Amino acid sequence: DAAINRIAAGEVVERPASAVKELVENAIDAGATRVMVEIADGGKTLVRVTDDGCGIAPEDLPLALSRHATSKIDGSDLLNIHTFGFRGEALPSLGAVGRLTITSRGGGEAAEIKVSGGKLGPVKPAALRAGTVVELRDLFYATPARLKFLRTDRSETQAVSDVVKRLAMAEPAVGFTLRDVSGDGQGRTAFRADPETGDLFDALHGRLSQVLGREFAENALRVEAEREGLRLFGYAALPTYSRGAAVAQYLFVNGRPVRDKLLSGALRGAYQDFLSRDRHPAAALFIDCDPHLVDVNVHPAKSEVRFRDAGIARGLIVSALRHALAEAGH
Ligand code: ADP
Ligand code: MG
Repeated sequence: DAAINRIAAGEVVERPASAVKELVENAIDAGATRVMVEIADGGKTLVRVTDDGCGIAPEDLPLALSRHATSKIDGSDLLNIHTFGFRGEALPSLGAVGRLTITSRGGGEAAEIKVSGGKLGPVKPAALRAGTVVELRDLFYATPARLKFLRTDRSETQAVSDVVKRLAMAEPAVGFTLRDVSGDGQGRTAFRADPETGDLFDALHGRLSQVLGREFAENALRVEAEREGLRLFGYAALPTYSRGAAVAQYLFVNGRPVRDKLLSGALRGAYQDFLSRDRHPAAALFIDCDPHLVDVNVHPAKSEVRFRDAGIARGLIVSALRHALAEAGH
């Protein structure tokens, strides 16, 4: 039933940034080495994600758009997920809340399909050299009530940029471009990071320099520690590179960007002797662990992760950061 589909879709797609998150995650899951995100009017009129990944074969296009169809998991091992996606909800949801066109080349042939208001059009031959282009126009055109909840173009653009940058930090080997094609369609590059090479720390350092700025990278301490099945790595800035707002604090668990108060609390604990309360340390930290130690996806749209034992994670971060700060002479 179309109405029910639209309501469910609204849960997954709250705003343009949630569409961008789903589409970029799909591109990464498809093995893309470069992902381009284009938006117009904060993503309200256009979100377009282009990748050079494995593509979708023409006969699979309708399947990719049907609810709960995923090529990524057989359903038997929900805990051992190595892809971002596994629910098969994103594309059907986007097709229910906007005008969606997917053009893709898979199995040697390129084709496109259009969906609008949940209605699938026919699969038609198309021209595309490789990968996939997913275009979402006029988000929430069929549900004007939802449109009203969107913020200004500027803050929607900001939210899109934040999503792209978080995923760019999570995937240093993948190149990312974010372009704003509002107005004359000429386009303006808002963010660009070329694929990083080298070992884990080199690649991450290079990517953090692109995303958080050279000043962060130059003031960043390497962090590495392990405890009770949790492996921590990443970079945290020297106390001298702190901010008036807690904007540059990023945590990734098993490769997924997560928003969790855990990090700000742990950072405060580690830096309390070096920073006044109105200064916030900057860090990008990654924790890898056995999937059994975390609960993933409390909410479909938010890729939240909760540690079964947050105390261990917090203790690990605090002690590793204190150690890194002490080595640096603090
Ligand atoms: P999920 O990611 O949970 O599998 P989605 O609705 O996001 O569900 O995507 C449905 C399916 O469409 C995926 O399982 C995948 O097979 C295919 N797909 C989506 N986006 C891409 C892409 N950019 N490249 C290749 N295949 C894709
Ligand atoms: Mg997906």
